[in-house]
Amino acid sequence: MTVTVEQARQKARAILDDFGVKTAPVPVERIIKARNIALQYAPLDEALSGMAYIKDGVGIIGVNALHHPNRQRFSAAHELAHHELHADIIEKAVHVDSGLRVLFRDELSAQGTDDLEVQANAFAAELLMPRELLIAALDGGGIDMDDDAAVEALARKFRVSASAMRYRLASGL
Ligand SMILES: [Zn+2]
Repeated sequence: MTVTVEQARQKARAILDDFGVKTAPVPVERIIKARNIALQYAPLDEALSGMAYIKDGVGIIGVNALHHPNRQRFSAAHELAHHELHADIIEKAVHVDSGLRVLFRDELSAQGTDDLEVQANAFAAELLMPRELLIAALDGGGIDMDDDAAVEALARKFRVSASAMRYRLASGL
């Protein structure tokens, strides 16, 4: 299955509509469970953020319980993306994400080397920081990306890391 980054974002928006999400923070755990995917937390190696696989027909998401809760939310949303967009791939083999790969997503994106991860990050960013809720949170105004306190306050509202919020804002409203 091949999807574009925009299609990945659209899928996230469709799920938010389905679920009737109207306010931040987005209840990513409840969304995952409502889609009949098992969400499991386990202490993993520091370098691993999460994994997605299908076992006996059941979708499973594993998240590194040792990471910060906000980072766990992004990891869970990223793994949900693999279930929603890449089921044909993860049903063949367990998909494991290293934290480094997510951290350096912009470099990878620039190189165009890892389309699946770029798509999953775009989905996760849109799911956790949907355009409409961001615009509402900014009260119709913009945000100064150099104002760390403002970015951090916005990130707290959406229960994401400041770096995830920067990534989302960089992709535009
Ligand atoms: Zn991934």
